[in-house]
Amino acid sequence: AKHRGRNRSYRFEPALGEQSLFRMSIRKEIKQALEQDDFFIEYQPKIDCHTESLVGLEALVRWQHPSRGRIPPDEFIFLAEQTGQIIDLGDWVLDSVIRQLAHWSSKPLDPVTVSVNLSAIQLHQTGFADRLETLLNHHKVPPERLELELTESILMGQEEAVTQTLNRLRALGIVISIDDFGTGYSSLSYLCRFPIDVLKIDRSFVDRVDQRRDQQQVVRAIVQLARSLELDIVAEGVERAEEVHFFRDLGVSRMQGYYFAHPMTMDALERQFDPMQRR
Ligand code: C2E
Ligand code: CA
Ligand code: CA
Ligand code: CA
Repeated sequence: AKHRGRNRSYRFEPALGEQSLFRMSIRKEIKQALEQDDFFIEYQPKIDCHTESLVGLEALVRWQHPSRGRIPPDEFIFLAEQTGQIIDLGDWVLDSVIRQLAHWSSKPLDPVTVSVNLSAIQLHQTGFADRLETLLNHHKVPPERLELELTESILMGQEEAVTQTLNRLRALGIVISIDDFGTGYSSLSYLCRFPIDVLKIDRSFVDRVDQRRDQQQVVRAIVQLARSLELDIVAEGVERAEEVHFFRDLGVSRMQGYYFAHPMTMDALERQFDPMQRR
């Protein structure tokens, strides 16, 4: 499998001898960013191409560094995982999203589901499900409004514990989806073992699917598999009309990608998706 996303090495990766110093300064920078509010969230719409309505949002964290400018999450998430600060950063993301959901419960964007990406370290943390339940209760947010996106690799290892946590989250009503589906090196048997609601077809399968025969076969197989397991499907990274048509013809109507909308701040989102424009 090729290296993608968070597996990519950091741009400024230091020589081995400087590692701990580097890690120390990164730790300090992430801590500072959390204190100074340099992280913020953008939301990317998920659209139903039949009704052209907004069916969900994915929360994506951003770092506006005061001197280095925007640092992409593919770089800093990996570092935050290395320093263990992904716990604090992940808590901040969950807290922000749940506050946003609470704020909306009386507003136009109600009732879409908002998904949050989870790192393995977060899911493997003891008491994660309990803390999430407390947070949702505290803000009076129905758990059905929250979706958690997990990659296949997160599900590997510590299977007992992961199964227990996922069962708890699912029992609360939280939606569980598998992100970047098809890119992991796992066996497919986990699809039956874990309580999963949604498969997000990785954008590498979506890209130019209309022009690639063997890719089409793989996508058809994934869609069939998802259907037989009664899982919802989202095609992600949809950029071109031809890709929209391909999935629409397959009966996959939920899509996410630049073709429909880029990730955007809440202000921009509320302007673009006001109730008059929906339906
Ligand atoms: P992801 O979860 O697979 O998120 C989708 C990524 O694809 C996002 O990149 C999004 O901006 C981008 N994207 C959306 N539509 C298109 C499209 O049509 N074409 C292309 N080429 N790209 C598209 P982003 O925001 O840079 O995030 C990168 C990754 O960082 C995410 O991949 C996710 O793995 C991670 N990430 C982001 N926010 C969080 C977070 O709060 N927690 C954790 N643990 N990871 C996060
Ligand atoms: Ca990814
Ligand atoms: Ca995701
Ligand atoms: Ca993805």
